[in-house]
Amino acid sequence: MSIQVNAIRSLFPILHQEVNGHPLIYFDNAATTQKPVAVLDAIQNYYEKDNSNIHRGAHTLADRATRQYEETRESVRTLLNAREAAEVIFTKGTTESINLVAKTFGSKFIQKGDEILISTLEHHSNIVPWQMLCEQNGAILKVIPITDSGELILEEFEKLLSNKTKLVSIVHASNALGTINPVKTIIAAAHAVGAKVLLDGAQSASHLEVDVQELDCDFLAFSAHKLYGPTGLGVLYGKRALLEEMPPFLGGGEMIREVTFEKTTYNTIPFKFEAGTPSIAEVIAFKPALDFIFTTGKKQILAHENDLLDYATGILRDVKGLIPVGTAPEKVAVFSFNIQSMHPYDVGQLLDAKGIAVRTGHHCTQPLMRRLGLEGTVRASFAVYNTRAEVDVFVQAVSKIASLKNK
Ligand code: PMP
Repeated sequence: MSIQVNAIRSLFPILHQEVNGHPLIYFDNAATTQKPVAVLDAIQNYYEKDNSNIHRGAHTLADRATRQYEETRESVRTLLNAREAAEVIFTKGTTESINLVAKTFGSKFIQKGDEILISTLEHHSNIVPWQMLCEQNGAILKVIPITDSGELILEEFEKLLSNKTKLVSIVHASNALGTINPVKTIIAAAHAVGAKVLLDGAQSASHLEVDVQELDCDFLAFSAHKLYGPTGLGVLYGKRALLEEMPPFLGGGEMIREVTFEKTTYNTIPFKFEAGTPSIAEVIAFKPALDFIFTTGKKQILAHENDLLDYATGILRDVKGLIPVGTAPEKVAVFSFNIQSMHPYDVGQLLDAKGIAVRTGHHCTQPLMRRLGLEGTVRASFAVYNTRAEVDVFVQAVSKIASLKNK
């Protein structure tokens, strides 16, 4: 069954506006997606009716808020097919989830001389926490190289893997190029040498079927705001056995079992990693976003986005002066490109003048851009509410910009 895109668009109030005198075309979905009205209503409803701190109140509002908060955890468990909801930890976002693993798993299980493998495709969020750890404890960061089309070179990965490798931390789908990495193969190879695997799922959780049991990843991080949910909220999935062995991340309320001035014992997972008052409204409002994904169907969403990507790629490939960046055969719906002799920022500005929102620049992947010999790219990224008609307007605008420069 194909997507009823008009019905879907009617659920997203923000899409129905003009920007710079043109109907908004929002193609910056890899940065953040728009929110359906059910998410907006849930935030308002929470503050109007249920606002209360969770887990410790002995009153009705606290019970209601706690129940809804934990219902979202169960929905995330369903999304990822995790074994149990306790393996789902709420954080501020992908960035915090990765930092959590670096600070806790990293400090306990990665020592001087041990190796951490990442790839050239990584977002800064999956580079900097590991550099910080290596600086602290003398571990060594190694980088899996890529081809010119933006694919990992698996033979090089295998050469880098050894019994010194303690962790492979890898992006599932690249935000800058769209490349989908063969993570199942990577996970199996890493496990064979005793290394654990963290998947940066910031771009995969919204587009791909991510089954953590089938993939057998040890950790997976993503942000709610890229799955039609609120900002300020992320998820860290981790296998129970690992989470139990890891020390806590932040110290404070909620994460304790008992505190004396001499010694503190810690709460069970997931609460051990959720110190302080969490983003209660955001967690509660993430459930309708997940319900939207479940009702629409991940397969249908993916098929729709792939159709837009194939459609756009098919036409744009032939535009004179347009250089596609990232041409791996397996991609999420990200089209990165440059226009000959134009700065990406200028292209972005010209598109914005037509009401078309794209991202320009290095996309928080400076080492990747350096590898490709680029300062940056223009990136159009599609979501479930985008249409072929929008792609047509975008293609026309891009073709016009390219023709001005490349006569
Ligand atoms: N990794 C990838 C692949 C991303 O696309 C992003 C967001 N652009 C992040 C990490 C960081 O996510 P957040 O800013 O929500 O923490």
